[in-house]
Amino acid sequence: PSPLAPAPKLVIDLERLSQLPKEKAGPLARYAATIQSQRGDYNGKVLSIRQEDLRSLAVIYDKSPVELTEEFISWGVLDAEARRAVESF
Ligand code: C2E
Ligand code: C2E
Ligand code: C2E
Repeated sequence: PSPLAPAPKLVIDLERLSQLPKEKAGPLARYAATIQSQRGDYNGKVLSIRQEDLRSLAVIYDKSPVELTEEFISWGVLDAEARRAVESF
């Protein structure tokens, strides 16, 4: 990647997340709600998360960060750009 290009962001689609069955999305939904609460950021349709948070979520879901990113993309909660954000993992 170009040294001038900004790091790709991990942006959770909160509307899509709220439509998913709880068995799948429950842990991610609770994690996102905790971050929203810590930031006092309740009004967004999306939530930008830290790269480090994807590592934590991967432990929670018992997958690698790359596998989990693919799963979240298939659910529609991350867009394809997120792939570039985990390339460095
Ligand atoms: P903190 O990590 O000590 O960060 C303090 C403040 O620094 C944050 O207040 C925010 O204004 C700013 N800050 C830190 N890192 C970033 C960043 O990457 N981008 C931006 N734009 N600002 C940043 P804020 O937002 O009120 O968050 C309060 C506390 O909530 C944070 O304290 C942290 O403990 C927790 N937190 C907030 N968002 C996240 C998150 O996405 N992941 C995790 N793991 N913790 C978070
Ligand atoms: P962006 O990062 O591409 O975000 C585009 C829009 O997505 C934001 O427009 C906001 O409506 C939404 N968005 C993204 N992440 C979050 C989130 O975690 N919470 C909420 N509630 N909304 C989110 P907005 O706010 O008008 O910001 C426009 C641009 O300004 C952003 O584009 C970004 O480039 C910059 N910006 C805004 N806030 C921050 C910040 O805290 N840190 C940095 N570095 N840039 C910011
Ligand atoms: P961003 O605000 O555009 O920040 C991009 C990257 O710059 C962050 O990636 C992080 O590596 C670095 N950075 C920005 N501000 C700080 C800071 O105060 N302290 C430190 N140590 N590093 C900082 P990262 O961590 O992957 O975060 C991605 C995006 O998640 C951020 O984009 C921001 O939109 C959101 N975010 C992360 N943490 C917080 C937070 O504590 N509060 C808020 N409001 N947003 C956060």
